[in-house]
Amino acid sequence: MQVTAAVVRETGGAFGIETLELDAPRDGEVLVKIASSGICHTDMHARDRYQPVPLPAVFGHEGGGVVAAVGATVTKLKPGDAVVLCYPSCGRCDYCARRDWTYCTEGRRLKHGGARADGSTTLRRVGPGGAEVVHGNFFQQSSFATYALATERNAVKVRADAPRHLLGPFGCGINTGAGTVFNVLKPAPGSAFAVFGAGSVGLAALMAARIAGCDPIVAVDVRANRLALARELGASHTIDATAEDPVARLKAITGRGVAAAIEASAVPAAFRQAVESLAPRGTCCLVGSARPGTDVAFDMPTLQQGRIVRGIIQGDSEPDVFLPALVDHFMAGRFPIDRLVTFYDFADINRAVADAVAGTTIKAVLRMPS
Ligand SMILES: [Zn+2]
Ligand SMILES: [Zn+2]
Repeated sequence: MQVTAAVVRETGGAFGIETLELDAPRDGEVLVKIASSGICHTDMHARDRYQPVPLPAVFGHEGGGVVAAVGATVTKLKPGDAVVLCYPSCGRCDYCARRDWTYCTEGRRLKHGGARADGSTTLRRVGPGGAEVVHGNFFQQSSFATYALATERNAVKVRADAPRHLLGPFGCGINTGAGTVFNVLKPAPGSAFAVFGAGSVGLAALMAARIAGCDPIVAVDVRANRLALARELGASHTIDATAEDPVARLKAITGRGVAAAIEASAVPAAFRQAVESLAPRGTCCLVGSARPGTDVAFDMPTLQQGRIVRGIIQGDSEPDVFLPALVDHFMAGRFPIDRLVTFYDFADINRAVADAVAGTTIKAVLRMPS
């Protein structure tokens, strides 16, 4: 079928809107009419080829919308179902066998390989000279398009009454922040929580910490507008890291330090501060997406006090269970991700990406033409 998609043709290049041909769904695949797609920094990492992706390619990995058609063997979904598209996994490796799907040994290839698991491609540009392969299947979705081909595994059915244009961002950044709190940190009510980096991942974590009953909840950032929003979303304290030392202030607020900290800024200095702000036996989770070659240093004795530093992908979430629960929190008014979102028309994707990179938006979301 014909689809409209945003194509990157050169490393670091602009997104160009093109008309492409997309395969019909095969066994185990789901065709989704995309209502909206969030923009995540991993899309820019791919555009700039910090991950080795083949070009030309269609990126986008926070798609949400409605199932338009399903492949022959699909049983989980049917046309008309509202879905959030999330990260892919193979379902067969030893990590998948123990439900550690976010660390699937095939995950990198399924996200960045530009093709299906079997290596076949799904997108073509048809011109007078023949058909040109365009690489899709980014995170097994390539959601910067009017339709996306996903797999049954990474398409999650959610309640039909949730606003379709807000479904996209649940699939990656929001899942990552909230999942890190609910699935990994599992903070006790009344325990001290800090998030370094009040972007969409950090603020999703903050909202989750509020649901979990953490107190105090402290947001650290360098932008006044983000700190103001963090206060509105439940932060009891905010720290402007350009104006004061976050570690000293957190110790002053909490006494011994925080039980749980999240590093969501991808800035090495902030990561170090997040670790240094932990109380003994505290845990710092790294979710910020730093580019390869980014080093961080700690004072080794810091970790001797029973402190844990852990990297997390996709909030360790089990998508079919966790994402519908997050949408329920949103619908109940406890998890207002709409407060983070700025919408852009699909045609304005380059402006949306520029704003996301500059940090002038918190969560840029593309709305597809209906
Ligand atoms: Zn992402
Ligand atoms: Zn696997």
